[in-house]
Amino acid sequence: MTKFADLDLRAPILRAVEESGYETMTPIQSKAIPKVLEGKDLIAVAQTGTGKTAAFSLPIIQLLVNGEGKRKPKTARSLILAPTRELALQIEENIRGYAKYLHYKIALVFGGVSQKPQVKSLSQGTDILIATPGRLLDLMDQGHVRLNEVEYFVLDEADRMLDMGFIRDIKKIVATLPKKRQTLFFSATMPKTVEGLANSILTNPHRVDIAPAATTADKVDQYVLFVPKNLKNKLLAHILKDETIDRAIIFTRTKHGANRVSKKLDQLGITSAAIHGNKSQNARQAALNQFRDGEIRTLVATDVAARGIDVDGISHVINFDLPNEEESYVHRIGRTARAGKTGISLSFCDHEERAYLKGIERLIRQKIKIMDNHPFHIEGIQPADYAKADDDEEDTTRRPRRPRNRGRNNKRHNQPSNKQEKSTNPAKSRRPTKGPHTAKPNKNKNKKRRPNPKQR
Ligand code: AMP
Repeated sequence: MTKFADLDLRAPILRAVEESGYETMTPIQSKAIPKVLEGKDLIAVAQTGTGKTAAFSLPIIQLLVNGEGKRKPKTARSLILAPTRELALQIEENIRGYAKYLHYKIALVFGGVSQKPQVKSLSQGTDILIATPGRLLDLMDQGHVRLNEVEYFVLDEADRMLDMGFIRDIKKIVATLPKKRQTLFFSATMPKTVEGLANSILTNPHRVDIAPAATTADKVDQYVLFVPKNLKNKLLAHILKDETIDRAIIFTRTKHGANRVSKKLDQLGITSAAIHGNKSQNARQAALNQFRDGEIRTLVATDVAARGIDVDGISHVINFDLPNEEESYVHRIGRTARAGKTGISLSFCDHEERAYLKGIERLIRQKIKIMDNHPFHIEGIQPADYAKADDDEEDTTRRPRRPRNRGRNNKRHNQPSNKQEKSTNPAKSRRPTKGPHTAKPNKNKNKKRRPNPKQR
């Protein structure tokens, strides 16, 4: 079964899907939708860009039509949890499209903005509630919403949820859901911790594995450009002279880095906007819209802010800084090469970032090609030697230290932690690569650290 028309979906849903321009199902959709329609719990390993949003939302929209349940004030018939505001917004936008010929109440709840309109939208009861965990818990604590009527529960990007320190929030939320419910669990990767969470909230799930995270990297033409840290700006300007790069997303590790790069680009007459956790929701949305509409050519983003961004036609992903978590690299380059298209990624790598590069290459199981036809090399060092030098050194690739949990009462709890984005600076989070202190990371030590609830 490959066509939406072959599914047993109601006419208003099929009509909306057709109008979205979809005809053929993506692999995750053809594997997941029939099972969800049968009422099975689902565990799906798939990442953004595979069509997973429709894979969980279309059957839920259908099941809600068939369902017995009625909307009751301050309750929700289905709940979709997403790690970031951007992803939550994206999901809501898609669902509103798919359900446009049905009379559903759809509510969206996330932190960083006034809760008043959200409280109002919950007061009459909702059919589909899309939420980030922190704000949802706040509203539950204040008595604005109860989850005891939820029939369908989706946990999206579970791996990211755990990375962002949401595990306790998720457990609290799940504890208030009825035992009798259908649960759909989505994650781009399935490390042991995520598997553990899945086992604790799913019942006899059907499992669907779409290409493991690392293989999406195959569709992107990837290059690494060795460059001294202080010349990265010049290299970026040099690259963006190429006018065939019409829509590029540029990743930095820190919020300040994103601001700096965006400012520099503006000075050079290259239109850009920065999005990161310190920007208001409205500012982020405005920047995304400008980027989507082609009013600005470049978007400079941190990893957290970029989650869930769904913009077609991004021709280039430029890693101004390499991420210190290898999987972020795969998420980043996945912003291009969407919907069957190809894309190019250009990763700047300075001396201190070489260990990150090694970790990334290990994850994607391929060597990234070196692009050396640019003028900003380190004097006297050939790029090939530069890459090779790494092999002589002990591997210090390890997970970054995460800041301690500051607790939900912290007044900044609605914002992604500035510290966390900062802590990813390799110069700060890593010791020099030679010498006796380069012993292998102490795994037990890492285990004790608690991640920080970053964004609500
Ligand atoms: P997602 O993985 O849900 O973020 O979806 C990635 C992109 O693919 C979004 O722009 C969707 O609108 C689009 N999409 C989802 N399903 C299909 C489909 N069956 N055919 C064409 N495009 C789709």
